[in-house]
Amino acid sequence: MTMDRRDTDESPHPGILRKKGFEFGFDPEACAACAGRCCSGDPGRIWVSEGEIAKISRFLGIHPVDLVHTCLYRVDGRLSIREVPADDGFRCLFLESGRPARCAVYPVRPRQCRTFPFWDRYRGRGRLLAEECPGIRNPD
Ligand code: SF4
Repeated sequence: MTMDRRDTDESPHPGILRKKGFEFGFDPEACAACAGRCCSGDPGRIWVSEGEIAKISRFLGIHPVDLVHTCLYRVDGRLSIREVPADDGFRCLFLESGRPARCAVYPVRPRQCRTFPFWDRYRGRGRLLAEECPGIRNPD
């Protein structure tokens, strides 16, 4: 899950994305050598909104109802992308393996994916996150 630059702040270091309130930076170039570790591993939720469902189904050329039935599941009244078993646990249904791994819906991926790694749960936990994501910079 790589960030969109429009979701970040200016960085004094070219190429390194920063976001106010986060102690670490993120280098999107690292994704080129990664197997999609942010889209696989422990099971989790990949939330999608109605607007995102419309965009993804249009991108894939399928009806939104079919997308919901085949690729999503409902949890606590919300919809999440299904995961499938992978070597390191589970991976998002849309993650195609390889180096770099490829997201089959990358141009229309959900906001949750676009804003990684600047999630509230990682605030102050850059060092821990750096063990998972090779793109984390200056986690101190
Ligand atoms: S939708 Fe794409 S970016 Fe988001 S978790 Fe799935 S493979 Fe990763």
